[in-house]
Amino acid sequence: MTALSIVVPCFNEEACLPELHQRLGAAARAAAGDDYELVLVNDGSRDGSWSAMQRLAADDPHLIAVNLSRNHGHQLALTAGLDLCRGETILIIDADLQDPPELLGGMIEAMREAQADVVYGVRKSRAGETAFKRATAHGFYRLLSRATEVDIPLDAGDFRLMSRRALDALLAMPEQARFIRGMVAWIGFKQVPFAYDRQERFAGETKYPLKKMIRFALDALTGFSSAPLKLASHAGLWLSLGSVVLILYIAYAWLSGQNIQGWTSLMLVVVVLGAVQMFVLALQGEYIGRLYNEAKRRPLYIVQEIAGVEKLPGGDRRKARLGYLADATANSERPGGKGKRPTK
Ligand code: UDP
Ligand code: MG
Repeated sequence: MTALSIVVPCFNEEACLPELHQRLGAAARAAAGDDYELVLVNDGSRDGSWSAMQRLAADDPHLIAVNLSRNHGHQLALTAGLDLCRGETILIIDADLQDPPELLGGMIEAMREAQADVVYGVRKSRAGETAFKRATAHGFYRLLSRATEVDIPLDAGDFRLMSRRALDALLAMPEQARFIRGMVAWIGFKQVPFAYDRQERFAGETKYPLKKMIRFALDALTGFSSAPLKLASHAGLWLSLGSVVLILYIAYAWLSGQNIQGWTSLMLVVVVLGAVQMFVLALQGEYIGRLYNEAKRRPLYIVQEIAGVEKLPGGDRRKARLGYLADATANSERPGGKGKRPTK
C-alpha cells in the first residue's frame, strides 16, 4: 500500500503535463515524503499527451500512466485511475491546474482534524470561466439539490481527498452513467468542505463544451432523482383540472346558444397537449436509454496499455492481460466486483 495516490484524468492536456507533474510531485513529496504515486489517465487524447506521459513515466518512479483505448469521458477516465491506484489516501484533481495542488497539505490536515473520510473542494470563486459557464453551473447545482434526496454539495467538483474505505465504497458502485461527485456524497461517512479559489486553466481550453455539459447534467439528474418522472403526473393533474373548466365553459356556451370560434381554441389545446406529451415522453426516454445502457453491463472502460506497469504489484501479470483487460483488472479487485467476465 502506498500512503498517497493522486489520480488525474487527462484529455488533450499536453501543454499542462510538465507543469502538472512538477507541481503535483512537489505537493506529494511535501505531504507524504517518498510514499506516493501519481496516476495519470490518458482519455484518448488527440494531441501528444500520451507520449508526454510515457516520457514522464520512464523518468519518474512514482508515476504510472494509463492509456485508455479511446475517449471514454472524464468520469470514466477518472474511474480507471481510481481502480488502479493503491493509496491509503487518494487525491482527485484535474489536469489543468484549476485546482491548486498546493492545497493538498491543508486538505490532509482538514481530514485528520475532522477525522473525515472525504474532504471536498468547494469553489469560493471561479477565475477564467465564462459568465455563461458560471451561471449554468450555479443554476444546475441548485436545481440538482432540489431534485435529489442525496445531499450533493453545492459548487463542488471532483477535486477531493478520500480515504481508502470511501474510495472502495465508491468503486463498488457499478453504474455506467457516473456522476462521481454525487456518488461520493451518496456513500456517507464524514465529509467536510474545503473552500478554495478556483484558478484559471493553466493552458488549453475547457474539455466540457455545452453538449457534454448537458449530458453530464442529465446523468446527474437521472442518476440521483426520479423526480422528473413525476412531472407526468403533475402535468396530468393540472391538465385534467383545466379540462374540467373547459368542459364547463363548453357546456355553458352550448346551452346559451353561442357560436364558439373553432380554430384558435382547437389549436391551443392540440399544441399544449402535444408539447406536454412529447416532453414527458422525452423524459421517459432519457431514463429508458440509461436503463438500456446499464443493462448491457459493458466494462466501464478499456485500457490499451499502462506505462510503468512494472511499478504495480503483479505488474507483469497485468501486462499479459492487457489485450483484453481493463475491467478484468479493475473488477477482480473491486469490492463487490464480479471478477473476470468471460469474453466471447
Ligand atoms: N477530461 C477527460 N476526458 C474528457 C473531458 C475532460 O479526461 O472527455 C479531463 C480534462 O483533461 C480535465 C478534467 O477532465 O483534467 C476536467 O475537464 P476541464 O478542465 O476541461 O473541465 P472544466 O474545468 O472546464 O469544467
Ligand atoms: Mg478545468
